Amino acid sequence: MGARLLVIGSTNVDLLATVPRHPSPGETLLGTGGQRAAGGKGANQALAAALQGADVTFVGAVGEDADAELALAGMRAAGVDLDSVVTVPESPTGLAIITVSQDGENTIVVIPGANAHVGVEAATTAVAGMGEGDLLLMQGEVPRATMEAAARAARDADRRVVLNVAPWMALDHDVLTAADPLVLNEHEAQLALAELGLSPDGDSPEAAATALRVAGTPSVVITLGAEGAVAASQDSPTTQVPSPTVTAIDSTGAGDAFTGALAARLLEGDDLTTAVGHAVRVGAFAVQHQGAQPSYPELDAELP
Ligand code: ADP
Repeated sequence: MGARLLVIGSTNVDLLATVPRHPSPGETLLGTGGQRAAGGKGANQALAAALQGADVTFVGAVGEDADAELALAGMRAAGVDLDSVVTVPESPTGLAIITVSQDGENTIVVIPGANAHVGVEAATTAVAGMGEGDLLLMQGEVPRATMEAAARAARDADRRVVLNVAPWMALDHDVLTAADPLVLNEHEAQLALAELGLSPDGDSPEAAATALRVAGTPSVVITLGAEGAVAASQDSPTTQVPSPTVTAIDSTGAGDAFTGALAARLLEGDDLTTAVGHAVRVGAFAVQHQGAQPSYPELDAELP
C-alpha cells in the first residue's frame, strides 16, 4: 500500500448566504442566495487532498443529527476513509454560518459542536497506526490537547506533521517546532511571531517565515492571498511563490484548498517549493468558484 495522509480535524455543515454587503449589528438584510454544503477545515483539507489523488483517512466527530451525513458527504464521495469518524450523541454536528458579499469578502461564525469531542485517545490511536512515509495533517479547529498529543506522538514515531494552526491557538513551542511545514496565513504568522517572542528582520512575509524557521520549525509556509505564498525550509532559501492572477468570486476555503493540495504533493515526495507551486494554483482555482468544498478542483481539472 502507498503512503497515506491522516487528517485529524473538524467537519461542519457550511450555511452560506450571499449578500449585497455585510449587515451591521441589529440590521436585517435580504440575501441574494444561499447554499448548504459540507465544510470545516479538516474535512475541506481532507477532500482537497483526496481530489488531488492522495489516499486519505479522516479522524473526526459528528452529531447524531441530519447534518452529519451532509458534513461527511463530500469526503465520502471522494473515497476518504471515514471509519474512524465517531458520532457524539450529546453535541450537534459542527455548523459554520458564512456570509459572502459581492466583493468576495466573507464573515464566518463557527459553532464547533461535535468537533470539540475529537479527543486525545482517538487521535493518538490513529497516529499509532501510521506507516512509514505517511503524513499527519491537522488544523486549529480541534481541541488544543488533541493537536498537541497527536503532533508529539507523530514526531516521536518519526512521522511527518503538517500543522495549519488556523484559527490560531497558542500551542506549546515543542509542538510548533514539530511542524514540517507550519502553514499559516499572514495574520496567523504575526500571532506566531508574537507567541514565540520573535522579531523578524523586517516586515516582509519572507522575514517572518525565515524568523519562524530559524526559531526551530523545520519548514514554514505563509499564504499571502492573491500574492501566493512564501516557503522557507532548511534545504533552500526562503522563496516567494506567486499565485496565478484570477478573478476572485469567493475566497471561502481557499486556504484549505491550498493546504490540502500541499499535503497531497508532499506525500507524493515533492520538495516544499514545488509542492507550494502546485498548491497556489489549486488555491487560485478555488477562489474562482463559490463555497469551500464545491470550489475544489479534481485531479484532471485545468488549473490557472
Ligand atoms: P486564508 O484564506 O487561509 O487566509 P489566503 O487568503 O492566504 O488564505 O489564501 C490561500 C491561497 O489561496 C493563496 O496562497 C492563493 O494560492 C489562493 N488565493 C487566495 N486569494 C486569491 C486571489 N484573490 N487570487 C488568486 N489566488 C488566491
